[in-house]
Amino acid sequence: MSSAADLLPPLAATDTTCDVLVVGAGIVGVAIALRIAQEGRDVLLVDRERVAAQASRVNAGALAFSDILPLASPGILRKAPRWLLDPLGPLAIRPRYLPRIAPWLVRFWRASQPDRVRASTAAQAALMDLSATETPALLASAGAAHLIRSDGVLHVYESEAELAAGEAGWRARREHGIAFTHLHGQDAIAELQPGLAPSLVAATFVPGWKTVSDPLEVVEALAAAFAQRGGRARRAEATALVPGAGGVTVRLAGGGEIVAQRVVIAAGAWSHRLARTLGERIPLETERGYNTTLPPGAFDLRRQLTFGGHGFVVTPLATGVRVGGAVEFAGLDAPPNFARSATLLAKAKRFMPALDVTGGSEWMGFRPSLPDTLPAIGAAAADDRVIYAFGHGHLGLTQAAATARLVADLIHGRAPALAMAPFRPQRFA
Ligand SMILES: Cc1cc2nc3c(=O)[nH]c(=O)nc-3n(C[C@H](O)[C@H](O)[C@H](O)COP(=O)(O)OP(=O)(O)OC[C@H]3O[C@@H](n4cnc5c(N)ncnc54)[C@H](O)[C@@H]3O)c2cc1C
Repeated sequence: MSSAADLLPPLAATDTTCDVLVVGAGIVGVAIALRIAQEGRDVLLVDRERVAAQASRVNAGALAFSDILPLASPGILRKAPRWLLDPLGPLAIRPRYLPRIAPWLVRFWRASQPDRVRASTAAQAALMDLSATETPALLASAGAAHLIRSDGVLHVYESEAELAAGEAGWRARREHGIAFTHLHGQDAIAELQPGLAPSLVAATFVPGWKTVSDPLEVVEALAAAFAQRGGRARRAEATALVPGAGGVTVRLAGGGEIVAQRVVIAAGAWSHRLARTLGERIPLETERGYNTTLPPGAFDLRRQLTFGGHGFVVTPLATGVRVGGAVEFAGLDAPPNFARSATLLAKAKRFMPALDVTGGSEWMGFRPSLPDTLPAIGAAAADDRVIYAFGHGHLGLTQAAATARLVADLIHGRAPALAMAPFRPQRFA
């Protein structure tokens, strides 16, 4: 899916200084770089590889604006023990990784207490409101509005009890102004998505949820608009940040350095390593996810489907039908276990009998996740010339444009578009 040909060009001799340096050319970094360049700043965007080298490349393509409930919640704590019993189930922890992830899981458990859940739901809802306006605006500014599909999503259930178990969440969404319709019985479901197995007996349709034609296409469109604005995108790996009187020096693998007036860290699941060089410990983990992209036409899919009880989604993309999801805690270095993609595909086939499961390509990506399901957006403790923008977990595509708006507000010294306290990078200290 990627080749040496799409590697970013290396740094040129003139790339040793800049006004704003953005580290990481995933969807978050590219959105920020474009937004800041649009406001007239000189921006250098660096990635150790290419545009959308990691999580932003092959994700499920949802603009999940109604997904305001934190993962850290009593509901997940109830489901987790059953899920963990199945080594290829929706949630897995590699045994050897358990000691490493334990402190993060304790924070996750704390964030799942009811008062914390209410607070993070309100913060997430505010960020989603901003995302719902900023995303189409940013894509339109890049000439890419046509990449958004407005078909809504169908969350499907195997029993009325499964639908009823989510009712508190639906009440919370209604309180935040999110429209949805519960559907009962196969006929009602078939009107929005024919061809599903009779074991699916209820569903919820959310019209305001959107998807994109392909997540890679979106990042590439924003990166092209950034280049058109005169923005520079280069290949370089940041290894350390050193604030000084004349700017922030960013040391690079291989020995070079860049001096920038402002630095934005948007390096996805690797961002905490750079924060560490400024003396900050941020509990960023990776929730690894898996999928398979089947050729176009593998199923007559009318809109995105989610199978919450099994932790996967199926998305219609311009490039095919993508089946995947699940969460695996195994860190940044363990090799992928593609038996997970195969398991998700087999489950999808059970619910979508006509799904042609041949000819697919498998992928694993690293979601950058903080324990309370909210991203870190704000200044570094050591130096406010460094801004963090990472930890969007399952929602980075959805929240990238809103994050770009907030980072631009911070860089320009404007009052941010929403209250920033819930996103403070130091909230776990
Ligand atoms: C299976 C799966 C499905 C998903 N589905 C959705 C979805 O439907 N909707 C949604 O909103 N989100 C979804 N997500 C989550 C979403 O993909 C991520 O939240 C998002 O891509 C994170 O973007 P990012 O830019 O922060 O990180 P990344 O996309 O990981 O980008 C980080 C970049 O930083 C670079 N980098 C790292 N370290 C350095 C360094 N030291 N120097 C230079 N460069 C560096 C990397 O090469 C990489 O290109 C999904 C994720 C997965 C895994």
